[in-house]
Amino acid sequence: MANEDQFKKVISHAKEYGYVFQSSEIYDGLSAVYDYAQNGAELKKNIRDYWWKAMVQMNENIVGIDAAIFMHPTTWKASGHVDAFSDPLIDNKDSKKRYRADVLVEDYCAKIENKIEKEVKKAAKRFGDAFNKEEFVSTNGRVLGYQEKIDSILKRLGQSLEKEDLADVKALIEELEIADPLSGSRNWTEVKQFNLMFGTKLGASAESAMDLYLRPETAQGIFVNFLNVQKTGRMKIPFGIAQTGKAFRNEIVARQFIFRMREFEQMEMQFFIKPGTQKEWFEHWKDARLKWHKSLGMGDENYRFHDHEKLAHYADAATDIEFKFPFGFKELEGIHSRTDFDLKQHEEFSGKKLQYFDHEDNASYIPYVLETSIGLDRMFLAVFSNSLEDETLDDGSVRTVLKLPAVLAPTKAAVLPLIKRDGLPEIAREIIEDLKWDFNVIYDEKDAVGRRYRRQDAAGTPFCITVDHDTLNDNTVTIRHRDTMEQQRVKIEDLRAIIKKEVDVKHWLMKMK
Ligand code: ATP
Repeated sequence: MANEDQFKKVISHAKEYGYVFQSSEIYDGLSAVYDYAQNGAELKKNIRDYWWKAMVQMNENIVGIDAAIFMHPTTWKASGHVDAFSDPLIDNKDSKKRYRADVLVEDYCAKIENKIEKEVKKAAKRFGDAFNKEEFVSTNGRVLGYQEKIDSILKRLGQSLEKEDLADVKALIEELEIADPLSGSRNWTEVKQFNLMFGTKLGASAESAMDLYLRPETAQGIFVNFLNVQKTGRMKIPFGIAQTGKAFRNEIVARQFIFRMREFEQMEMQFFIKPGTQKEWFEHWKDARLKWHKSLGMGDENYRFHDHEKLAHYADAATDIEFKFPFGFKELEGIHSRTDFDLKQHEEFSGKKLQYFDHEDNASYIPYVLETSIGLDRMFLAVFSNSLEDETLDDGSVRTVLKLPAVLAPTKAAVLPLIKRDGLPEIAREIIEDLKWDFNVIYDEKDAVGRRYRRQDAAGTPFCITVDHDTLNDNTVTIRHRDTMEQQRVKIEDLRAIIKKEVDVKHWLMKMK
């Protein structure tokens, strides 16, 4: 399936199976704002829990907080967001459409990357089993040429953005002859900076109202609470503070479904360390976070690191974990070495000391910070799009199956009476009454059992449990596995253990070891 078709399928499947709806759809929706539906809310919660367990519960020296979305407006002066949280935008004079200038250039590079992939596919076909991808991409002249081109374009883009040389970003767009993807026009305006924060007001009367921002990241709620947590939790460096919560950005280019939203959720962890140890901890968290992703079994080849050329004003090193979405490799998580920038700024703007007294060194210092920051919605899209498959079966028929990692699946099992009489529904209900203490389970008696299996496959339910006439005699049921479609006859009393084995968080997180 072409990538674009696959992506369309992801979006329509997410709606059809109750995962994601457009916000306020009856009013024709709101651009780049989405609602999570009955299954989506469960999947999202399970991803959040999977992250929280790995970060907070599994690490003695990491604690979690839940700071407010509203923060004192000086926070955003101190953090640099008022002055520098902007994207370079460019308008097309003919189509009147607005784009992020850096994204136009990056999309251009993604097209070159597609060419590399095509070369790789061709060569893989030609060489068959003897094909060595790494060797091919590091020696093939054409591939090397493409890669060199990508590298030099991205380097120049990074440098121009770093220097705030917006005229050069425009020059680059012109030199590459990048056209408006919608209209094909190359009639561009100058590149300008555009602040991404949403403003609002606190207070009733016009005179006393205070200008506020909706937080554009959750991190600052952690920084301003650094000393409170350190003191009340008696935390010793190195230690981390984790948080999940909503963030808001007035994104200019808001397409690609839940990949880029105006209201989204982040899962962030700030790790406070001794100055000078940041390189070590940067490597540590790169490794740990990649392991977390890989533990979900979504294909090791679908992840890669992308080190930043252009560093944000607060960082001394930064990398993205990129995931292969249906529209190509894109940022899923950022890992940033933020130095002491944030705490220093908050010290200066608040006039309060934000230092740590190190008993071993008998000295006070402002800790350095290592940040891991992942978008929950982007992770949702990664999991959902990677799991959706049209699988051709041995008999030639095609089934649509959502192979969600069982630990994340919204519903763990569907219990199905073979028919609606002879006491079978009652036994199915009893099974549900028992299992629901541990798992989300549902009852389904409508349609032939084959159709019910297909429906659960498409909804992502890892197990179907069927109650039939034999159950009446021997207390056994059939349990069917979503991915293999394998069916087993098992005792009702063994169901809990069979399901637990596959959906248990421990079973999955142990893979990080
Ligand atoms: P991008 O370059 O894609 O705009 P970013 O570098 O600005 O992302 P960060 O500020 O590092 O992103 O935010 C950390 C994480 O938050 C990102 O890796 C991403 O997963 C998520 N994120 C950021 N912006 C959005 C958004 N508009 N919608 C959904 N998730 C987002």
